[in-house]
Amino acid sequence: MTTDRKLRAPAAGAIALYARATHGFDGRVAHATAVLQSAALEHAGRIVQVTSLGVEGMVLTDLIVRNQLGIAVATIDTGRLHPQTSALVPEIEARYGIAVEVHRPQPRAVARFVAAHGEDAMRESLALRKSCCELRKIEPLSRLLAGRSAWVTGLRREQSHARAVVSFHERDDAGRVKFNPLADWSWADIWHYAAQHDVPYNPLHDEFMPSIGCAPCTRAIAVGADFRSGRWWWESESAKECGLHVSVHSRAAKAAAPSRREGGGGFASAQADFGNAEVKGAQAPDRSQSETAKECGLHVSVRAGAAKAAAPEELEAPA
Ligand code: SF4
Repeated sequence: MTTDRKLRAPAAGAIALYARATHGFDGRVAHATAVLQSAALEHAGRIVQVTSLGVEGMVLTDLIVRNQLGIAVATIDTGRLHPQTSALVPEIEARYGIAVEVHRPQPRAVARFVAAHGEDAMRESLALRKSCCELRKIEPLSRLLAGRSAWVTGLRREQSHARAVVSFHERDDAGRVKFNPLADWSWADIWHYAAQHDVPYNPLHDEFMPSIGCAPCTRAIAVGADFRSGRWWWESESAKECGLHVSVHSRAAKAAAPSRREGGGGFASAQADFGNAEVKGAQAPDRSQSETAKECGLHVSVRAGAAKAAAPEELEAPA
């Protein structure tokens, strides 16, 4: 790996705002590494990291390369990404000396959709937004995963209510194993790791975009807002998913919601902690359905048992 970086963080960027060494950080890094090592062994040659090029994905790529795990790295270029996001592909390749698979939507399907509905049809209706996600994200993902038995994602429990029950490993609807090694990492952990290892990241994170998707569907969030509130902000909260990561997480999150409220836990705000970079609960009592649709379908899982939110036994690496 080289230390060259084209995209350096400003002095008061995301690292300065969020990075913090918190209790148990080294253990979480060790556990995520163990999950990845086990996954790489079990699915050698048939496993891929699917990264949206957000900071979580960048941390995972760093862990994969640093530990020489031989897990392929792939992303989906929807055709609507910010240039800052697209620029990360060559930066990863130069930094880590790996080739990143870039999967794109079918040009004719995109052309037909745009001709029929316009370039920004996603703003017109939920159905059109989901259709756009389907042809630009879901269909390319299905090709990306074809012939593979497992994938790795940067999902974290803290990212949203719907993701509060993400397991370290689960099965998607096609029966593939989906590994989420960062499930128990906090926002502070992610940035602490990025700072420790000079991990390249999207400069849009420095502009208060904790969750970065396509350019027309992402905006900066306000202090105290949820991580994914800058995604599809014009929609009702109950619709905000693109289908990449829906299903069991959403159902399980609903089921788990009452007890989580009682316990004072829950998903966190990315911006509630500007001052101390600590993760604080920012849960609203009426949001039991709010995040359930805030996915794009990349992460549909089928393990109904995933409702065991943050169970201690999940801290063990998968078999
Ligand atoms: S996030 Fe927006 S632009 Fe990207 S695929 Fe979905 S609707 Fe289309």
